[in-house]
Amino acid sequence: MIPSKWAEYFAQQRKTWAEQNLGRKLRIMRQKPNARVVIGSQEMINFSSNDYLGLVSDMRIAEAAARAAGRFGWGAGASRLVTGTSSLHNELEVEIAKFRGTESALLFGSGYQANLGVISALAGPGDAIFSDTLNHASVVAGCRLSGAEVNVFEHRDYDQLERLIDANKARGRRLIVSDSLFSLEGTSADLDRLVKIAEKRDALLAIDDAHANGVLGKKGRGLPEVQGVAEKIDITIATLSKGFGSYGGFVACSREVRDYLINRSRPFAYTTALPVPLVAANIEALKIVATEGEALRAKLAGMVRTLRTKLAAADFQPLGEHHIVPIVIGEEDKALAFADALDSLGMLVYAMRWPSVPKGRAVLRISVSAAHSDDDIYRLINACKTARDRVNGKGTNRMTRRELRRPNEPEPPAAVAAAVAAVAGSADMAALLSQVADPQAVAETPPAEAPPTETPAETPAETPSAPPVPPAPASSGDAMFPGDTSGQGASSGDTFFAGGPPMQAPVASAGDTLLPEGNPNTKTRKKPTGPAPLPVPPADTTAPPEPPAVDNASTLVPELDAMTPSEAPENYKGKNKTQRKTRIHKKI
Ligand code: PMP
Repeated sequence: MIPSKWAEYFAQQRKTWAEQNLGRKLRIMRQKPNARVVIGSQEMINFSSNDYLGLVSDMRIAEAAARAAGRFGWGAGASRLVTGTSSLHNELEVEIAKFRGTESALLFGSGYQANLGVISALAGPGDAIFSDTLNHASVVAGCRLSGAEVNVFEHRDYDQLERLIDANKARGRRLIVSDSLFSLEGTSADLDRLVKIAEKRDALLAIDDAHANGVLGKKGRGLPEVQGVAEKIDITIATLSKGFGSYGGFVACSREVRDYLINRSRPFAYTTALPVPLVAANIEALKIVATEGEALRAKLAGMVRTLRTKLAAADFQPLGEHHIVPIVIGEEDKALAFADALDSLGMLVYAMRWPSVPKGRAVLRISVSAAHSDDDIYRLINACKTARDRVNGKGTNRMTRRELRRPNEPEPPAAVAAAVAAVAGSADMAALLSQVADPQAVAETPPAEAPPTETPAETPAETPSAPPVPPAPASSGDAMFPGDTSGQGASSGDTFFAGGPPMQAPVASAGDTLLPEGNPNTKTRKKPTGPAPLPVPPADTTAPPEPPAVDNASTLVPELDAMTPSEAPENYKGKNKTQRKTRIHKKI
């Protein structure tokens, strides 16, 4: 039974969010190949996922997980320091280090945990962290958890960063943290400048390359590679959940830093290791990105170019420069109406609102994936124009037959059947597993496809296309597990860990006292020095959505995940840029 004070509080919060168009609901969706999702009975083209290379429904990855699950079981059982490290965990780390061109790498449960675990381990009381104001919520959380003094500089204002470092009186070490590609503005950090600032001032540099890992650069080494500084960045944090279409996080770094983190990072030590089948899936994803990534990136870049050019020509003024294409709408109700209009046109685009962005500066965040086609991009452009007319009360409010047409629903790849058969062992089990893989397959028939009868308003330009995806090797029974370094082939009775790779000897006991208990940082932690300022959005009447001039200093507040109920929106009323001195990341 919830105490009445709490019940009142929850109800009040809910009411306030609803009144301000800031409430969120979870929608049940089903992921389908080719960047499609089904929500309710509607199939839509998904422009809101971080699946930039189109790997989330790649059956080779699912097969790798299924094979490993059949052989090793699922859970890791404990922290890697206790009993949870398999040779596959180590193998994945070796492969990640090779991919990123670093000496070593260390896995974390997710990108969020990686930021928490790395930043909070590197810096502590007495140290100073310097953090871009638009850094991801998990970077912000890592800064807070560290107990270090946190100095926030305006977005990409590196002159201010220099001033802050030079004026800083902290006795300890200095750490600079920045996202590479910012997830809400689509903007890029100037990594070369950050490297130089860090070198000159004896600071350690940690870059969160979550949105660029595997997706940018000739070798897929992200923004550091694009900007020619890959070897100069001390610490790169990234996720396996975006470009790799999977799940998990990592830090790519020197051996020394890895060793330090193993001994010092609480979010590494005190959490259960990634499940072995997930690790196997990540190894497969990495293999695919290493071999096919270049072509996927070229295809993606072509579509991004087309989308950005055409949106700009239609007066949308998308922000940034890469595959995250944000359009500033302004008022929350308008952004929701825009997203709803796109929804009805079969386009899933998320309306980012406070607390992910400041109030009154809602953003439609379009993410492009290599799984999209040129046709998808042109449909989106047309849908954006139609949606804008609707939101602004213009046009006929009618959907054309082409807009009404549902996106294609391709058949699931034959590889699913092969994968299912490989792990099932019996026809009955295979049938059961197929239903699990596609739970609605029996209940739902694919929507009928109305052929387009109109000439599209936009026609696709030529873009480089991805190479044909090689079919997944049909495994007869339990073939040698990919990456199994144990040297043992699997036997027919080889199911639950028997015959698996040897587990690494634990380096800490169950009563693990390696890391200090409690939070030693709480006493010395600095209180926030002032609220973040918010830009006042321009009044938007009937004109197409014109993004206000971006005050990079203070625009977005990517702290959705960090929101705590105790902080009220009023916290954001604040000083303007000139009044502001040193700031810390705000709790909202
Ligand atoms: N860093 C950035 C910049 C992100 O955008 C995200 C996720 N949105 C993360 C870290 C967290 O990654 P994960 O989803 O793997 O927890």
